[in-house]
Amino acid sequence: MQITIQKTPTSRLSEVDFDNLAFGRSFADHMLVAEYADGAWKSVQIQPYGPLSYQPAMMSIHYGQAIFEGMKAYRSKKGDVLVFRPEENMKRFNKSALRMCMPEVPEEIFLGGLKQLIQLDNAWVPEKEGCSLYIRPFMFATDEYVGVSPSTTYKFIIFLCPVGSYYSKPLRVRVETEYIRAAKGGVGFAKNAGNYGGSLYPTIEANKAGYDQIIWTDAATHQYVEEAGTMNLMFIINGALVTAPTGDTILDGVTRKSVIQIAKDWGVEVQERLLSVKELVEGISSGAVTEAFGAGTAAVIAPIQTIGFEGKDYELPPRKESDFSAKVFTEISQIRLGEIADTRGWIYKI
Ligand SMILES: *Cc1c(COP(=O)(O)O)cnc(C)c1O
Repeated sequence: MQITIQKTPTSRLSEVDFDNLAFGRSFADHMLVAEYADGAWKSVQIQPYGPLSYQPAMMSIHYGQAIFEGMKAYRSKKGDVLVFRPEENMKRFNKSALRMCMPEVPEEIFLGGLKQLIQLDNAWVPEKEGCSLYIRPFMFATDEYVGVSPSTTYKFIIFLCPVGSYYSKPLRVRVETEYIRAAKGGVGFAKNAGNYGGSLYPTIEANKAGYDQIIWTDAATHQYVEEAGTMNLMFIINGALVTAPTGDTILDGVTRKSVIQIAKDWGVEVQERLLSVKELVEGISSGAVTEAFGAGTAAVIAPIQTIGFEGKDYELPPRKESDFSAKVFTEISQIRLGEIADTRGWIYKI
């Protein structure tokens, strides 16, 4: 498929303060825009990042046929641009698409387009340690029609954001037992826009009570822990890595998958199983639970300090350099930057 390139006449690169990058507030010069109609992907174009114009009746804003992905590219010391496991994001994107009755995006557009886009905006990949280029592919329904049915036209877009180092202080999280993120048979495994709109209200409620994030529990009983905000949730219990099994209600995280693989390679026992809130809080009290952390692209590993449940705060032990989560963070950081050998084939070089 031919990708036409329309370059910006005026780069905005010099306007960006690369020493003070906020997450998701600066956008690289170009974006990729692909159009789907009549059952096929038609035009694919790289053009200047900027506003698009749509009809008020555009279906995605009314009925939520909108999905997205998030991944990062890093600048290695040698100057190469390395993307961490983008094939996994592409596969997951197409699973989300299937669930939302949207067309799949072929590899030549998703990965091929991404490659050309980053080649053009190479100068936007930050060099400073800890910084990266956040990549946001997304797709939305564009038919002008007021009726609940799948759209027949779609846009697939990728834009790029240079982002600063994501430092996460150890989190205070609260076990949510009223609201839910996802239910069996629902769309929790898909990265569709509506899932995130629905999570805002309970998260704000938890913030008001002094917590940074929510631990979601299962919709049917609220007895089993599922995810932490928009991260997968992991624990070290009696030396084993414990995390919820993927299914309808769990987002199949690329970071989660990578942490599990590294744990196995290191000989750490991995248990993908249900974990009850009861076992969790008793385990924290008894000392069996030694680490709790979130896993996701933004922070990679976000350590959890405090877990609130039924009005009581349970404190995890202070962090140590020898912790599994600290070591796995270092391992993934070094792979992403090309500082250690990519023995698992996780790096996609631009
Ligand atoms: C994106 C996301 C994650 C993390 O996935 P990664 O591929 O590791 O970034 C976890 N949970 C939810 C709900 C998410 O949306």
